[in-house]
Amino acid sequence: MFASSPFPELLHHGGIWLRAYVLVLSMMAGGAALERRWPAVLLQSRTGQRFNMAYAGFYLALSELLKPLTAAAGVAVVNALGGGMVTLNSRGWGAVASFVIVVLAIDLLEYAFHRLQHTWPVLWKLHSLHHSAVEFNVTVTLRHHWLDFVIKGCLLYPLVGVLFKVEPWIVGATTVVFMLGNYFAHLNLRADLGRYITWVNNPQYHRLHHSVRPEHFDHNFAQLLPIWDHLFDTLWVPAKHEWPVTGLDNGEQPRSLFGALSWPIGAHVVRDGIVERKPIGMLDKEAK
Ligand SMILES: [Zn+2]
Ligand SMILES: [Zn+2]
Repeated sequence: MFASSPFPELLHHGGIWLRAYVLVLSMMAGGAALERRWPAVLLQSRTGQRFNMAYAGFYLALSELLKPLTAAAGVAVVNALGGGMVTLNSRGWGAVASFVIVVLAIDLLEYAFHRLQHTWPVLWKLHSLHHSAVEFNVTVTLRHHWLDFVIKGCLLYPLVGVLFKVEPWIVGATTVVFMLGNYFAHLNLRADLGRYITWVNNPQYHRLHHSVRPEHFDHNFAQLLPIWDHLFDTLWVPAKHEWPVTGLDNGEQPRSLFGALSWPIGAHVVRDGIVERKPIGMLDKEAK
């Protein structure tokens, strides 16, 4: 007897990876076109953008490799806690209501986890890679440590399955909304939303979250809807010309792809168990 060939399986996974890469490249190319036309800050380095793109390539590959692990852990969490406490409607206007409920639930979980990332030193060690980007643009969107993907996939997102029994296509639709929102929020785009600035996460609102200025620290955690920042008192409404310098306040950033992949191992960022955020008093050069 012959063992079954691994090639169809490999081809299947190769196809999934390829689609993911094409999607990311398309989103970044579209974002870059907008940034060229209406930049918030001029003169961003190509080297920094290429670094983020290369890292995104590794991040995608690792995420795809680790999906079986996160899927198995997710099922275990749902089984342990009991899945689908509330069954959501999937027809007509009921489906629209279900979509809104799932978006709100995921967004609240994202908000809560993001606050933990800034509060717990061990999570900040991972999340600070995202904040170490000195130049804020669409290529920063996937500059997250790959262990963040594992933690969220294993522990955070399964909670939605614990709460709700919902058709997969509704969850898929919410994924698209969060993906588009995430790319939009990281654009180096002078989008002036005026009085609607706190209705949805956007380039200026999220730029404040990445700011090096101490007064901006621990504000604007929202992933999609700033309503959570309103409710939990972490809202900073950007002034019209407030486009601050971004990055870590100590200026630290990875020097190589290996440095990014192994970022939490470094002795930086957290000392004596305290999240270190030294003010360096950089001026808001762009806000002129
Ligand atoms: Zn953050
Ligand atoms: Zn960000």
